[in-house]
Amino acid sequence: MSMHLDQSAVTVLGLGPMGRALAGAFLEAGLRTTVWNRTPGRDADLLARGAAGARSAEEAVAASALTVICVVNDDAVDAVLRRDAVAALKGRTVVNLSADTPERARDLADWAAGHGVRYLDGAIMTPNTTIGTPAAVFLHAGPADLYAEHRTVLEALGGTHTHLGEDIGRAAAYDIALLDIFWTAMAGYAHALVVARAEGVTARELAPFAKGIVDILPPIIEQSVEETERGDFPGDGNPITSAVSSMAHIVHTSEAHGIDAGVMRAAEGMARRAIGRGHGADGFLRIAELLGRR
Ligand code: NDP
Repeated sequence: MSMHLDQSAVTVLGLGPMGRALAGAFLEAGLRTTVWNRTPGRDADLLARGAAGARSAEEAVAASALTVICVVNDDAVDAVLRRDAVAALKGRTVVNLSADTPERARDLADWAAGHGVRYLDGAIMTPNTTIGTPAAVFLHAGPADLYAEHRTVLEALGGTHTHLGEDIGRAAAYDIALLDIFWTAMAGYAHALVVARAEGVTARELAPFAKGIVDILPPIIEQSVEETERGDFPGDGNPITSAVSSMAHIVHTSEAHGIDAGVMRAAEGMARRAIGRGHGADGFLRIAELLGRR
């Protein structure tokens, strides 16, 4: 295969909402794109747009030097790569954009090294609708030279691409930390909708103020970097004693309406622990230090 062909062909395994978006962006960028999915029929739209179909994962992998796999998790990656496509993968590169843990990324990298498969791990931090647009955010981890070799093709997916380093678990580590923020915030928002509704406030009425609350976070994140590095969390203006009182109001109002307040009770419990250890005058992020202690 010539260098030119290497750089203009790509295979996408997994055609869920994200896999379809990735393959669509590659096609849009003019790459020769081969697609495969475990359940047949999910490729119809992509074939109509010029993608090449494949009867098996192995056949799909054989069509390109670079394969991007994006399935539900690394169990599914195992099923596709380690069982169905292993023979064709030798000497080729796989970029795994499925979400899973750092540990699983390291396991896959070990397996890949033992089978002559060149392996990069990545994470997608934005919804499928952003793929092919400047809003997409991709994180990558693994051998720097391998990333450099395939970077141009990966950048055809649009958005920003950041190589986080050679530790293959690093993209998944960022993914876990970022989704930790996302899912606890979403759980909080879902709960807020229910409490607001119980008080006669609609989602539409709440929305502008809900967005305002979220906007408070970026400067706090910015400020927390230095505080975390110093291990010092000044509570000026908003000490934990005040935070815990605000949380108790949320728990009280929820439970008065018969609404489960488990998430807020957990947060309040952590804050009370910090106060119990003499940190009542500190800022809320002091709890990060206590949580990290075994
Ligand atoms: P899903 O997470 O629902 O994954 C669906 C895909 O996984 C389908 O191609 C499905 O095949 C495949 N799959 C599941 N189990 C297996 C298996 N055992 N063997 C082979 N294939 C399997 O949908 P998405 O496409 O949205 O997500 C893919 C990845 O992208 C996930 O890790 C997700 O967390 C991540 N992601 C998605 C975002 C989004 O906006 N959708 C945003 C950021 C990340 P089949 O059709 O045969 O069931």
